[in-house]
Amino acid sequence: MNVFFAAVIFLPSSMIFSKASANEIGVYYLISADNSNGQGASASEAQLKSGIEQLNSDFSSLNISFFLLDKIYLTNDDVAGIHEGKWDTDNEEQVRPFTHYGALNIVVADLDGKNGHAYWSYEATDLIEVEPEDLATSTISHEFGHNLGLLHTYQSIDDGPITLFEGTDGWQYGDKVIDTAVDPGERDYYNDCSYSASAIDEAGNTYHPDGFNIMGKGQNTCRNRFSPEQIKRMNRVYSVINSIC
Ligand SMILES: [Zn+2]
Repeated sequence: MNVFFAAVIFLPSSMIFSKASANEIGVYYLISADNSNGQGASASEAQLKSGIEQLNSDFSSLNISFFLLDKIYLTNDDVAGIHEGKWDTDNEEQVRPFTHYGALNIVVADLDGKNGHAYWSYEATDLIEVEPEDLATSTISHEFGHNLGLLHTYQSIDDGPITLFEGTDGWQYGDKVIDTAVDPGERDYYNDCSYSASAIDEAGNTYHPDGFNIMGKGQNTCRNRFSPEQIKRMNRVYSVINSIC
């Protein structure tokens, strides 16, 4: 313990988490399991590896890369109900004692009624939750996109016509990103990655969403890109986080 405190006192904070470079993000996996040794874990080693690979692929356009720092196994004794197959992310604060500041914390557990969940960038908590089978899909990147401040492309779609969201005042509406097409927000509208519906808004405008946008409602096995303005915004948020941790 004395050694630990000495390190905290005398080392610059940037060395504590030993980032290999400014654009590398260390990942702590917090995996639900039967015991702290990882027996009966909800995710396999291959699934955990695929999560890091998915992040590296989807965030390569931001010049950010990810690497595994450690795996921590959480039991029902650690976090109530986390390994019972339908954990409610409303209880996510119970995971906080097991998280590490200055790294990305990824909770892997079977969730109640959702594929993933995330804190927002202003909540000062770099943590997302993902189901084991979705680690190899865009869900993990979608959730980290929320950590970096991105909203859904179907956010607040009842607040006005598509023309307002996608017009010059679009910064104030929907996902507040100007170059993302408004998404009608229905998963059933997508078939084999493509938008296959002909939905219109209340003003009669036709939706033309991007089924491949990671923050949209397309299938998580299809989505694989952010828009230039989404990338610009995430880079800005990340540069601020990175400069202070
Ligand atoms: Zn989301």
